[in-house]
Amino acid sequence: MTISDNIAQVRERITSAARRAGRSPDDVALVAVTKTHSVSTIEAALAAGVVDCGENRVQEAEAKISLLPPEAARWHLIGNLQRNKARRAAQLFDIVHSIDSVRLAEALDRAVSEATPSRRLPVLLEINVAGEASKAGFWVPRGRENQVAYGELREAAGRIAALPSLEIHGLMTVAPFLDDPEQVRWVFSALRRLRDALRQDFGIELAQLSMGMSDDFEVAIEEGATIVRIGRAIFGDRSTNKRE
Ligand SMILES: *Cc1c(COP(=O)(O)O)cnc(C)c1O
Repeated sequence: MTISDNIAQVRERITSAARRAGRSPDDVALVAVTKTHSVSTIEAALAAGVVDCGENRVQEAEAKISLLPPEAARWHLIGNLQRNKARRAAQLFDIVHSIDSVRLAEALDRAVSEATPSRRLPVLLEINVAGEASKAGFWVPRGRENQVAYGELREAAGRIAALPSLEIHGLMTVAPFLDDPEQVRWVFSALRRLRDALRQDFGIELAQLSMGMSDDFEVAIEEGATIVRIGRAIFGDRSTNKRE
């Protein structure tokens, strides 16, 4: 199987999952997660029609993006961002999925406004819906039903929404790694309900739900994902490659 075959297969699975849920496949964006993969591998994905690429480290992304033509792809930062890398991230990425604190959002806001005062950078708030200690994100175990955690998230979201150089486009989550994707369906539906609650509280659209990876993207789409982040199903295992 070539990368192009894998992409075609993933797209077919996205289409089927969307149809099962009565949704349009056009409402689900595919982000090809290119972390650990080489520039030539990325070029193969772009040649096969990929337009959105996801990277989880600023430095690694910078090295690769600098070797590709400008505007070759839309770049998504999907991994943890340290505040001291906000300036680089603001220059490299078209959207940041991993805003997990007000302090980080403020640092990124400053970096964007210093570089391009007129720009508003799209961001997603990362949510730790399953309450896993190992995961990043605003800690809202069980989602909307958790009154205290929801109140804190709402307060943080309000402060981030008021920043002039960022624009909150939605929410993102990474589900626990379990054998059966049905076991994490509740995580995706909880993220959607959290989005609906915030939307109602703030009157902002929050159109994007970034959820679903190689092992669980079909279930995520059935639960409303508008962005799926897929690495292994396109590029194969990373274990034989480099670090995760
Ligand atoms: C690596 C990564 C992905 C892609 O995972 P696969 O299982 O390879 O599809 C998606 N989202 C995030 C945040 C990641 O770090």
